[in-house]
Amino acid sequence: MISFHKRDCFERAKELVERKETVALRYACLELRQCIESICYSKLKTYKKVVPESEFQEWLPKRVYEFLLEMEPTADQSYSVKIYSEDRNGDRDKLILQDNHETLTLKEIKKIYNKLGYYLHTPTISKQNSYLSASQKLQTTLEKFIKRIEPIVNTTFDMRLGKTVSFECEDCKHKIYHNADTLKVGKAIRCLKENCGMMYVCEEEIDGKYKFKPNQFVIDCECGESIFINYYKLKVPSHISCDKCKTKYNIDKHWAYNKET
Ligand SMILES: [Zn+2]
Ligand SMILES: [Zn+2]
Repeated sequence: MISFHKRDCFERAKELVERKETVALRYACLELRQCIESICYSKLKTYKKVVPESEFQEWLPKRVYEFLLEMEPTADQSYSVKIYSEDRNGDRDKLILQDNHETLTLKEIKKIYNKLGYYLHTPTISKQNSYLSASQKLQTTLEKFIKRIEPIVNTTFDMRLGKTVSFECEDCKHKIYHNADTLKVGKAIRCLKENCGMMYVCEEEIDGKYKFKPNQFVIDCECGESIFINYYKLKVPSHISCDKCKTKYNIDKHWAYNKET
């Protein structure tokens, strides 16, 4: 079975580039793209506790990095880590681990990933000439990418650094997590649970704690209960009943127009 581990993809790409054969270079593009995907996914796996796995299984690297940057503003920066043991008094004792963590920035990911992708498809007839001239530079381009990606492939550890806050989704009852440092009043947050997608808006901070209000259409039932409609789940027509008094409501969508001013 083919391994999608970053090191295996990287080694295969390197070997293909070293052959210096035009035909082999396109295959090297594929291996390098899969190497980048593997780097992104291994970081994402450190968030298993935060995001339901069923949700992120379908994410492409761009989506993964956007999520990581939202959760952890420093996720695209390289860093060094030193871990010490504690002595009996809780003071720093022996150095247990010292390592460097290298990563790619979101901008780099987009640039390299898209550039590699360019060579994986048959160009349209109008673009075949420019494709051929770009292919002539492919050997040098790939050598540059290999040099840039190598330290990241050699990084042997990954960790979650973001400080997270969480609250329970009113619809699916699962926890929604968000980075504490990137929260601000008015920010929209979506429940990441598969088949839920309920939207919330971050409201004022009281004693250092934010409140999260469903940002959805609300039916004020005559019994006093508020029924939140999850737009993400809404079909046309939809029917909903009040949990408290069981009154049924039909929901319909109407198109509207007004003159542009
Ligand atoms: Zn939910
Ligand atoms: Zn009711």
